[in-house]
Amino acid sequence: MTKKSLQTTLIHTDYAPPAGFDAYPPGIHRASTVLFENVAALRSGDWKNKTAYTYGLHGTPTTFTLEARLAEIEGGKHCLLAPSGLSAISMVDFAFLTSGDDVLLPDNVYNPNRELGRWLSQDFGISARYYDPLVGAGIAELIQPNTKLVWTEAPGSVSMEVPDLRAICDAAHARGVLVALDNTWAAGLALRGFDVGVDIVMHALTKYQSGGSDLLMGAVITRERAVHDKLATAHMRLGLGVSPDDAYLVMRGLPTMKLRFEAHDRAAREVAAWLKARPEIVRVLHPAFEDCPGHAHWQRDFTGAGGLFSVIFDERYTEAQTDRFVDSLELFGLGYSWGGANSLAVPYRMGAIRRDWQEQGTLVRFNIGLEDPRDLIADIEQALATL
Ligand SMILES: *Cc1c(COP(=O)(O)O)cnc(C)c1O
Repeated sequence: MTKKSLQTTLIHTDYAPPAGFDAYPPGIHRASTVLFENVAALRSGDWKNKTAYTYGLHGTPTTFTLEARLAEIEGGKHCLLAPSGLSAISMVDFAFLTSGDDVLLPDNVYNPNRELGRWLSQDFGISARYYDPLVGAGIAELIQPNTKLVWTEAPGSVSMEVPDLRAICDAAHARGVLVALDNTWAAGLALRGFDVGVDIVMHALTKYQSGGSDLLMGAVITRERAVHDKLATAHMRLGLGVSPDDAYLVMRGLPTMKLRFEAHDRAAREVAAWLKARPEIVRVLHPAFEDCPGHAHWQRDFTGAGGLFSVIFDERYTEAQTDRFVDSLELFGLGYSWGGANSLAVPYRMGAIRRDWQEQGTLVRFNIGLEDPRDLIADIEQALATL
């Protein structure tokens, strides 16, 4: 190239680093503009084609690699990333629901998913109806000719009922209805959604995949090309992009995810078992415990449990007392989300989020982090003393 001015030299360079660099961490490729070789390549560029690049929003080597890895872990074929777990949920709804359609959601569904259903009902001419998470094969009676999608969540991430996913899938498929699973709790480790028959697996990567409490991301994984193509169109139209830096951080978490998950699981069962023996607690809602609603489904379909469970306090304690319990915890942070190294506790007003909630005492949800469970138990014990 002819000699350039200093200003242009600040922008253009002929230097290219040597080819052949290789290392274990995947490269972080950031881009809005993606460069084409020539006009013919630009004209033939297809945003849906994941063997080539068209624009940063539609993927870089970093995001394509994470998508491929997540699909492989879940036993799926295709994956699309979204900027949060919730946007992954809305991608599914906008891909498969249109005015006049019907969607079924479990009563224990992740609350922002319920809120999205309410919005679809109010403003989009879509009916969103709610079903008992333990309905099982009975879902058949709720399916209408206009039902297009059944959401499932296993278990519900506050009240912990484990649904009969196989029965729900069989009944839905008999009527040609797609089943989507929010598989965040099991992280694709303790339950692989396609093994039990679901069509669409959604994850909040914000939780175990990240493990760092430092990013938000979601994913939708599928096996069928036609199902994926509809999702990809919605993904494009909604403009869902993720930061390659965040995608890198999720990949950084993957090698340790199973070890972390198993450590959360062991510690959570230890803390939950200790709580179960306490007189202040009337119920422990942990899918691995026999008295958890849907425990038999967990036993049949899952290989582990992770760190999340809930307890119900005896109704003799007022909300002010159980609030004081939560406020007195020292090792447990007070905040939403889970899957990170830090233990968390959140009290829920179940009457506000469940139409049929029977329990009288306060529900407190625990996320057991990676601290020594003996220290967590000692912390809970001192907080219980404040009751
Ligand atoms: C956290 C969570 C989501 C949403 O994920 P965000 O990244 O926080 O939007 C969805 N479903 C479940 C079960 C979750 O726990």
